Amino acid sequence: MTAPSVAIEPGPAAAFVEKRPLEHYTPPARPSLVGMTREALADALGEAGVPERQRRMRVQQIWQWLYVRGVQDFDAMTTLSKELRTALSERFTLARLEVAAEQISVDGTRKWLLRLPGETAGAPHEVECVYIPETDRGTLCISSQVGCTLNCTFCHTGTQRLVRNLTAAEIAGQVVLARDRLDDWQRAAGAAGEEKRLVSNIVMMGMGEPLYNFEAVRDGLAVVVDGDGLSISKRRITLSTSGVVHNIKRAGEEIGSMLAVSLHAVTDELRDQLVPLNRKYPLRELLDACRNYPGVSNARRITFEYVMLKGINDSLTDAKALVRLLKGIPAKINLIPFNPWPGTIYECSDWEQIEKFSEIVFAAGYASPVRTPRGRDILAACGQLKSASEKLTARERLALRAMAMTD
Ligand code: SAH
Ligand code: SF4
Repeated sequence: MTAPSVAIEPGPAAAFVEKRPLEHYTPPARPSLVGMTREALADALGEAGVPERQRRMRVQQIWQWLYVRGVQDFDAMTTLSKELRTALSERFTLARLEVAAEQISVDGTRKWLLRLPGETAGAPHEVECVYIPETDRGTLCISSQVGCTLNCTFCHTGTQRLVRNLTAAEIAGQVVLARDRLDDWQRAAGAAGEEKRLVSNIVMMGMGEPLYNFEAVRDGLAVVVDGDGLSISKRRITLSTSGVVHNIKRAGEEIGSMLAVSLHAVTDELRDQLVPLNRKYPLRELLDACRNYPGVSNARRITFEYVMLKGINDSLTDAKALVRLLKGIPAKINLIPFNPWPGTIYECSDWEQIEKFSEIVFAAGYASPVRTPRGRDILAACGQLKSASEKLTARERLALRAMAMTD
């Protein structure tokens, strides 16, 4: 039998890098240029004494060094004069986000725990960023907030209060960091970059609700999609929302990425419990916003995420209702095996039930609806980043099932 592409291959055990203790944290003394938008960079150049009429050109030069070459040293910016390099290095750094811990799974999945400065010195925050290699792509899952204001009952992040929004630079900075760590700069540059690069796709499915940090997410993603820089196409970026309806249209217009919606229930009664934001924006309003998402079409479908919770939302009646509910919306459906965390009241549906549920969804014309758990060995403590979409044939699914049962 062909092994599923997600099978854990023989190899070294997962690598763990020791977490650096918090007392080793020193907040950055000078701001870093890394992750900055063009506007922020122009202002930074102003501070370094660059006259206004030169700024655009200088921004363009530095942009290439930052986001095409990934340089870590001002001296490598050879198109800038020595004086300007010195002026910049006196005021700024090229520091990356601080990695507090890195874990590498035997299946190649990597997780970075990032330490971000707090509002007050000495009290840093932590968020996660995960890289998931697949056969035809490599997906980076990035965070938008430290914690979350919403409290979806099945989500670990939902148990943590919102600590702060990430800045645009911290959002784009996660992509820069992944390119560094994966040694991906050379591969990513050049005409064939899009096919060769390791980080080919981005999902905003880490910590936080991106549509409650709208401006920073929009500006950070503008850095990521910029064709003269990191150059990751909007079609390869998926923003996941729990259903912040008032910002969905705006996201389509001002960000233009693909959209994923955390649906998880087919009735308002159940969704009110699982995703309390549903009380503000009930299903009908959410689905109307999806129907009208700018640019939605069969080629640009909305992904509906559906976490499989045993005995809660996983009946075959639910599966049929799900298919009926999404009728007429260009949609993909992702069934996500629930990733349990300490203290949760939920369990993941039995694999058999997920299979039966997915057969109904599959029969309605949705391809490969089940997400495959990845990086199990390193993501045990992670709220929601355990899975990535993977095309599975029925045979592969059987193999996976066998694998799941021997776990
Ligand atoms: N706040 C956004 C994006 C972050 S959550 C949102 O809710 O869409 C990313 C995805 O992981 C969402 O679909 C979320 O519902 C799902 N998720 C959260 N906790 C999970 C868990 N314990 N197991 C499986 N999926 C989970
Ligand atoms: Fe926040 Fe998304 Fe978790 Fe809900 S599922 S609590 S919106 S991170």
